Amino acid sequence: MPKAILIDTTRCTACRGCQVGCKEWKNFPAVPTKQQGSHQNPPDLTQYNFKLVRFSEHLDGDTVQWYFFPDACRHCVDAPCKNVSTVEGAIVQDKATGAILYTEKTAKEDFKTIKDSCPYDIPRQDPKTKQIVKCDMCIDRVQANLLPMCVKSCAMGAMSFGERADILKQAGERLEAVKKEFPKASLLNKDDVSVIYLVADTPAKYHKFAVADASDADPRMSRKDMLAGAVAPLRKLFDSLQG
Ligand code: SF4
Ligand code: SF4
Ligand code: SF4
Repeated sequence: MPKAILIDTTRCTACRGCQVGCKEWKNFPAVPTKQQGSHQNPPDLTQYNFKLVRFSEHLDGDTVQWYFFPDACRHCVDAPCKNVSTVEGAIVQDKATGAILYTEKTAKEDFKTIKDSCPYDIPRQDPKTKQIVKCDMCIDRVQANLLPMCVKSCAMGAMSFGERADILKQAGERLEAVKKEFPKASLLNKDDVSVIYLVADTPAKYHKFAVADASDADPRMSRKDMLAGAVAPLRKLFDSLQG
């Protein structure tokens, strides 16, 4: 049965427990960073940061409003990164959970192609190994009937993990409750992803790539659709060459 994660940003206090928990479970080293006038740290996802709590500040009259967004791979149901992959076994989808997994064979992929295919700007490359990396839904923990480490680390109850159908139901119910206070609340790309975000305001206020719509692309077409349209002929050509 496919799994899913709900990230309810209305409950997120930006404590970064999830970010640190992810790093600890993966045993990743610290990365050099510096103060850039924001609490967001490090400034972006890296090969050693699969989860990053993004901070955005917006002026509302005389008041500064903070928006928190614990960013990571969405484990797309029909993943664009997997669809553009040209190396067999490099990007696979775990049948039991639906998790999109990158293997060591990603070192043979064209990084730019994989990165550009992702509507959420997630893949990163390890400069030493050339492997492309990202969140793996803590597949090792999930296979051992444990919660993903970020979910386990969240003391605010902002993250839930479970069967996709149950999480979608929970997300819908929570949306209805949140809408009473925040009429603009929405669930981001819920039918396309396995990591579903609930936001209280316009998605772009949280993060440029919060939602799979490219504002700089044709406004009638989502970035995912646009990329899928561009990539499909190439895949057909590739498949025909593979025989
Ligand atoms: S969010 Fe990006 S990296 Fe993750 S599965 Fe979707 S396309 Fe791939
Ligand atoms: S599921 Fe695991 S790898 Fe993915 S962001 Fe959470 S802790 Fe990190
Ligand atoms: S651990 Fe929970 S409350 Fe803290 S930053 Fe992550 S999602 Fe937000």
